[in-house]
Amino acid sequence: MLDLSLEDRAATLNARYRNHAAVQVLRHALADPDLGKVALVSSFGAESVVLLHMLSVVAPDTPVLFIDTEMLFPETLAYQRQIAERLPLTDIRVIRASAEQIAARDPDGTLHQRDTDACCDLRKVVPLEAALAGFDGWITGRKRFQGGQRVELDFFEPEAPGRLRVNPLAHWRPQDVADYMDENALPRHPLVARGYPSIGCAPCTSPVAAGEDPRSGRWRGQAKTECGIHFIGGKMVRGPIAPDAAPEPETDTMTETVIQTAEIVPLPDAPVLVRDDGFHPVEGDPDVTLPPDTDPSTLGQYLNAGLIAVEFPAMTDGRGFSLARILRELGFAGRIRATGGLIADQYAMARRVGIDEVQIPAALARRQPAGQWLARADWRAWDHRSRLAG
Ligand code: SF4
Repeated sequence: MLDLSLEDRAATLNARYRNHAAVQVLRHALADPDLGKVALVSSFGAESVVLLHMLSVVAPDTPVLFIDTEMLFPETLAYQRQIAERLPLTDIRVIRASAEQIAARDPDGTLHQRDTDACCDLRKVVPLEAALAGFDGWITGRKRFQGGQRVELDFFEPEAPGRLRVNPLAHWRPQDVADYMDENALPRHPLVARGYPSIGCAPCTSPVAAGEDPRSGRWRGQAKTECGIHFIGGKMVRGPIAPDAAPEPETDTMTETVIQTAEIVPLPDAPVLVRDDGFHPVEGDPDVTLPPDTDPSTLGQYLNAGLIAVEFPAMTDGRGFSLARILRELGFAGRIRATGGLIADQYAMARRVGIDEVQIPAALARRQPAGQWLARADWRAWDHRSRLAG
């Protein structure tokens, strides 16, 4: 498929993975020969640890490109070392401008005071372009809720002239990020707690007050909002953005699809079930509970059960999806309930493999309301029962 046009490759991959969740997009797409060779570009900033952790679970040998502008906060460098030591990523590459380029264009390190676009070009854009040579795509942490052109963001985007961008977190909301970090006990960038929700280079990043746009601390007082690795009409462009070019805003504008749910139960401390029309009280005990390491060859003995629970000890553990899919392939016609560490982003995937309901704790239901679970508007046409019905 690498012979197809960039747009056709993106469309084919989006169709193939349309109802997968973030972890499954990474797990399957990175092994997909039609995607080609891919790297993760990470700033080791406020939210970077989510993708870094996912990658360490599903494909730890994927190259990680870390752009060290040599203007970063010491806390970022320490955080990068901390993450690198903690996660089993095997190919972290530190990208820097060449000493010759620095000597020629910014010998005294003050270019950012005179021309931030030229400084970003020297220290970020040019080194990244060089580092991405030979890759067919790169992974980003961009999300639909960030607004602007991102409200239509797909998992795979063409980036002229010849690369794909992979956006596994396209459907994630801010709470998904927080929940993922909590569940996996991931360390936060130390500057987040000190008022830096978006973290770039030290000379160009200031703390943000309550109520301010999270990115307002970047190049404060300047019209500049992007480092130069920005996109217009799906293309990466270098240098300053023309005033009429409508760059993508980096705001937290919420653009949630409003889903009407038939039944929203009051939320005591009891867990709830997520079904296609909203939250319900937990009812019925499973006839069988399958841990994630259940041998698939033993599933045939459970085909007469009425309700089977499949355990997900963590949201990065996809074995429960495989068990549900195999049960359906064997002809199991009862209900399948997922229990454990799933989040809203994974509901479409759960329905696709044949899971009917997801049991979640009350605290998660309060953070991720029913509309958020059902917000992937097109999953209903792709769920297991719809596909069975033709
Ligand atoms: S963010 Fe500031 S210091 Fe960093 S590369 Fe850009 S202009 Fe230079």
